[in-house]
Amino acid sequence: MHERPGGPGTAGPAVRDAEISCRDGERYVSLVMMKHDQVEQARERVLQRLPDLRHIVRGSLFQRTIRHRQGCPKCEGGDGHPMWILTVGYPGGRTRQLSLRAEQVPQVRAWLANYRRSKAALEKLCELNQRLLRPESRAPRSREGRA
Ligand SMILES: [Zn+2]
Repeated sequence: MHERPGGPGTAGPAVRDAEISCRDGERYVSLVMMKHDQVEQARERVLQRLPDLRHIVRGSLFQRTIRHRQGCPKCEGGDGHPMWILTVGYPGGRTRQLSLRAEQVPQVRAWLANYRRSKAALEKLCELNQRLLRPESRAPRSREGRA
């Protein structure tokens, strides 16, 4: 637990002891961290899986049935007219509703999925970048709990 890599630069006058134990404190935290080059590789993998950001849309898709009060045989027969709506929420509780043509629905579904995937990717990238802001782990890979 308290082994210290005897690498170059660790030897020094006794006055540096406080500095070293301080670094040891960081090292304890960094045991769970990836090496910075591993973080960068993970970041590249996330970027490669990032959806095409030209094909994203935010919101929720739902179906609503419009029923005419009179003069429409379809509605009088009880069917009504199913419509697809994309609802997009904004800060302050405002929402916008877009009615979609049926043939747009598969595309909107795919764009919503792309939005969710890109949002998850942004979160992942932010987490990885946090690791790059921390000191790099000097622990051997075997201490990471994985292979
Ligand atoms: Zn109708």
